[in-house]
Amino acid sequence: MPQLPDFPFDSLYADAIMDHYRNPRHRAPVLGGNIQSHQFNPFCGDEVTLDIRLDSQGRVAEVSSVSDGCSIIQASASMMADSMPGKTLEQLRGLCQQFRGMMQGQTLTDETLAGMGDLPALRVVRQYPVRIKCALLPWVALEEGIKQATPAN
Ligand code: ZN
Repeated sequence: MPQLPDFPFDSLYADAIMDHYRNPRHRAPVLGGNIQSHQFNPFCGDEVTLDIRLDSQGRVAEVSSVSDGCSIIQASASMMADSMPGKTLEQLRGLCQQFRGMMQGQTLTDETLAGMGDLPALRVVRQYPVRIKCALLPWVALEEGIKQATPAN
């Protein structure tokens, strides 16, 4: 696995991104998961697999988020997994929208940003539009997983 950054890290966000890239969280397999989702980008080889187990209240009890590819998708997949435990699918759907909005240039309130853990560090990727899809791929997987788990209503 390459240890050199493949992204021009020249900002104060670099530490959080490199930390998640080098020490990705939530990679251990989940037993008895309720939601599985996989996304692959054939153009750059980025890949992510999610396995989520919900508790009896419908909140995320455990998540496995295994990614491969560039530093951005790996950091995004790790940060996303970090933010998931304890949330309902409805709350996760909201977080997906907030994250997409943030990556598309929306200005979020300090309060919203404060509730997003390390995720706001990924705002630096907005300066490199072709890499935004790398940051979004784990979120596409999460959105697909939520859709499968909540059939049309
Ligand atoms: Zn990538």
